[in-house]
Amino acid sequence: MRSFSLIAPAKINLYLEIIGDRPDGYHELVMIMQTVNLCDRLDLHANGTDRLRLHCQNPEVPLDETNLAYKAAKLMQQEFPQIAANFGGLDITIDKSIPVAAGLAGGSSNAAAVLVGINQIWSLGLTVPELQILAAKLGSDIPFSISGGTAIATGRGEQLDSIHDLDNLWVILAKHRNLGVSTPWAYNTYKQKFAHEYLSDPHDVKKAVSKVHSGPLVKAISHKNGVEIAKLLHNDLEKVVLPAYPQVAQLRSEFKEAGVLGAMMSGSGPTVFALCESENQATKIKEKVQAKIADPELDFWVTKLCSHGILANQ
Ligand code: ATP
Repeated sequence: MRSFSLIAPAKINLYLEIIGDRPDGYHELVMIMQTVNLCDRLDLHANGTDRLRLHCQNPEVPLDETNLAYKAAKLMQQEFPQIAANFGGLDITIDKSIPVAAGLAGGSSNAAAVLVGINQIWSLGLTVPELQILAAKLGSDIPFSISGGTAIATGRGEQLDSIHDLDNLWVILAKHRNLGVSTPWAYNTYKQKFAHEYLSDPHDVKKAVSKVHSGPLVKAISHKNGVEIAKLLHNDLEKVVLPAYPQVAQLRSEFKEAGVLGAMMSGSGPTVFALCESENQATKIKEKVQAKIADPELDFWVTKLCSHGILANQ
C-alpha cells in the first residue's frame, strides 16, 4: 500500500479544570474530551523520494516543519529509520475543515492522522496504545485525537480513560473568523491570577481527579442526559478568556438566551460550542443567533458529537 486517506475529527472540552502546575512546565489538568463530526481529511502518499512534503489550501496552515502533521511524520521516520528508508518520503495533503487556532485541536488531529496513516502504509502493526505513546511525545491532545469519542484526560491531557461515548447530542460551533486566542497566553494568565489555588500535594491532585471520575458529569454522560450534561459543563479558562474577549462572552450568552441546552468555550477558545437535543433545534438556534449578532465574520457549524477518533476514509 502506498497511499492512505484518513478522517480527523475536531474535539471540544465538556470539562476543563486546571488543578496545578507541573515541574515540566505544563499544567496538571482534568478534562472530559469529546470528538465532534467536523473533520479534516488527510491523504498520505509514500512518494519514493527522500522528501516530506505538505500540501494544504488554507493559508493559515504552515507548510514547513512547524506543522504538527510534519512533526508526526518526522517522528515516525526517527522511530523506524530502516522502514522509513525503504518507503522514502511522503506527500501529505490536508483538506482543512476544522478552523485553525480555534481551541478544537485541529493540528493535533492532523498529527494523530499521520501517525495512524503511516502505521498503515508502512505495515508497522502498532496498536492504538502504542501509537498513543508516540503521540504523547508530540503534544498533549494527540493521544486523545487518535481514539476520540468521550474520555477523561488527566496529567497534561495525555493520560486517558475512556467513558461511555456520547453521540446522541448535536452541537453548534461558532468562531469569529479573525479572532485567535493564544493557548500559552490563556494558561499563563490563568496561572498569574489563580496560582494561589493550585494543588501541589500529589494526594490532593489524585483526590481532585477521582472527584471528576465519580462525579455527576460522568454519570450524566453515562445516562446520555443532555439536560444534566449541559448544566455541568465547565471550563476554568473561561475565567481569563471571557473578560479579555467580550465577543466570546457575548456569543456564549446569546446561545444560552436562544435556548440551547448549554454553551461553553472550547479549550482556550475562541470557539464557543452549544449543545442541542436535535439537528432541527441546532439549525434553528444557529439561525437565530446568527441573525441577532449579524457579524459576517462569525462562522457557524452545525454538527453532531461523535464516538470515533481517526478513521480510514473509505
Ligand atoms: P489546541 O486546541 O490543541 O490548542 P487549536 O485548535 O487551538 O489547538 P490548531 O488549529 O491546532 O489550534 O492551530 C494552532 C497553531 O498551530 C496554528 O496557529 C498553526 O500555525 C499551527 N499548526 C501547526 N500544524 C497545524 C495543522 N496541521 N493544522 C492547523 N494548524 C497547525
